[in-house]
Amino acid sequence: MAQRIELLPEHVANQIAAGEVVQRPASVVKELLENALDAGATDIQLIVREGGKTLIQVVDNGAGMDRTDAELSIVRHATSKIRKAEDLFQIHTMGFRGEALASIAAIARLELQTRNGDEALGTHLKIAGGTLESVQETVVPQGTSIQVKNLFFNIPARRNFLKSSKIEYRHVLEEFQRVALAHPGISFKLFHNDSEIFNIPESKLRRRIGHLFGSRMNDRLVPIEEETQVVKVEGFICKPEFAKKGRGMQFFFVNNRYIKSSYLHHAVMNAYEGLLRPDTVPGYFIFLHVPADSIDINIHPTKTEIKFENEQSVYAILRAAVKHSLGQFNIRPVLDFEANQNLETPYNLRHMSAQLPQVEVDRNFNPFREEATPSIQRKDSYKASGDSWTALYEGLGEGQYQEGAKTHWIVESDAPSEGLFDEGAMDALADVASFQVDRKFILTRVKSGLLLIDQQRAHQRVLYEQFLENISLKEPVSQTLLFPMKLPFDRGDLEILTEMNESMKALGFAMEEGSDGDVIISALPVLIPDAEVGGVLEELLTNWKQQLGTEGFSEADRMARLLSRALSIRPGRVLDTASRQALINDLFACKDPDRSPFNKKIHTTFGVDELEKKLQ
Ligand code: ADP
Ligand code: MG
Repeated sequence: MAQRIELLPEHVANQIAAGEVVQRPASVVKELLENALDAGATDIQLIVREGGKTLIQVVDNGAGMDRTDAELSIVRHATSKIRKAEDLFQIHTMGFRGEALASIAAIARLELQTRNGDEALGTHLKIAGGTLESVQETVVPQGTSIQVKNLFFNIPARRNFLKSSKIEYRHVLEEFQRVALAHPGISFKLFHNDSEIFNIPESKLRRRIGHLFGSRMNDRLVPIEEETQVVKVEGFICKPEFAKKGRGMQFFFVNNRYIKSSYLHHAVMNAYEGLLRPDTVPGYFIFLHVPADSIDINIHPTKTEIKFENEQSVYAILRAAVKHSLGQFNIRPVLDFEANQNLETPYNLRHMSAQLPQVEVDRNFNPFREEATPSIQRKDSYKASGDSWTALYEGLGEGQYQEGAKTHWIVESDAPSEGLFDEGAMDALADVASFQVDRKFILTRVKSGLLLIDQQRAHQRVLYEQFLENISLKEPVSQTLLFPMKLPFDRGDLEILTEMNESMKALGFAMEEGSDGDVIISALPVLIPDAEVGGVLEELLTNWKQQLGTEGFSEADRMARLLSRALSIRPGRVLDTASRQALINDLFACKDPDRSPFNKKIHTTFGVDELEKKLQ
């Protein structure tokens, strides 16, 4: 078989943007994975130890190399992928500099085992610091395995620059995700420190996103699709209510190559305008396909930046495509995340004093001439104060009053809509006797009979609304701890905590990952007593994992629910008179005092007639 690798002519080599290929373990991962893809692999395994600092290994079932190619592969500017300068502008493969393996071999211990389909035996090379130490024949399956050990072992300065294994691992993981997303048709495995992190079969993009980021992603994705002469756009975008604070799941791929582009990101953000809560960024997995000669991917040595010939058109088309998907799938503005609750008023409005909107009316208007239609429908009654109330026009009903030339519309107040208690009873409630039944229910008297309240559900409702209120405030009410708490968690839990971190922050938590898998908590929502934090977090994690009864809600909402469950008083807890009254008061000050956040009935009344019947 003819040698496939040739040295690039010097001038071509010089045309290639200079730059270090290897900055950290993740850069090695990227190069090795891309080589495996270029070799036509359909199954790729990535094995790393200590975030890649001690070991990075990629095993593929691709074409493999013969002995000569294998030896050449570690020579700078040896590549089988381009031959002449013009080829630089027609790049379809991932690697094209022919310098990755050479660079890696120069700064680590590298072992390469490979066999191509034509040969019975494979080749095993050992290289350290750029020096070929041994070449052996070996029995291996077709494909290539490259092991990179002790990165920067011969450059202590660079080695010391590496971050903790945890941080390096995060970068490795990101690289893995990018490659796996771009190639859903290929199966991947990832092992870290001997534990299997991912084992993902070949699938369609949607499922691949689920494999990588959790199956709940499925409900959050909206497909995006647009094809024009300039660019073809496809992939998925996330519904706006799942947008998160800070960057997270934002992926652009151009011709299947992951790229960073603040310009394209801007186009997407622009399309979401008006749909996002402040400071949140939606996730997206967007694939752009353009003719290979209309882009220049060679402007940055790590190849994550790109220049389009038709930049402005790409921007406009991308924005239109995102807008179209958001519109087509009927994604309405969700500035308010509690949208599907019967909680229509944003909580922070509750802290503002009510102002009556002023409406100018045509005083010559005579409603008796035409059909008069009352424009405000109100369900409960209210008392209009004093003299200003003049119902001038029957047809306009009681929703407004006249003052000078102006008609004031009276807007429904925040008063509890239940007419459960006697007039004025809300204030006087403290005087009404209440009893605890079975340490589970509170029984009290109301105007029409007896009211039975489930104490835990009531408390859940109260806490839930308080948490929501806290979230909707710009600055969540939180207490900074004098002595930050250190709580140990295992790796899996840590990942979930990281996932929850944004919503936790919104609630008033301040936590960060400590050195050894500890979580350091420096501030808490005021609603959570210090002593309860550990237990609350444990319970939160368990419920979060099980997605208990919270499907389809925003993350913040879900968090508020779970916290309300975790903190609520349990059956069996004795409540003194004051606590019972406070709970009843708080419950009926809630927007929805009837149902718990988990949609369970909170209270019921036994009418006097019902009681009478029972005694017949
Ligand atoms: P580039 O990918 O830019 O060509 P590299 O230094 O990454 O440069 O690789 C050099 C050459 O080694 C590649 O062109 C390819 O021919 C060969 N090679 C590297 N990795 C593999 C692999 N996993 N399978 C088959 N061939 C490989
Ligand atoms: Mg390469």
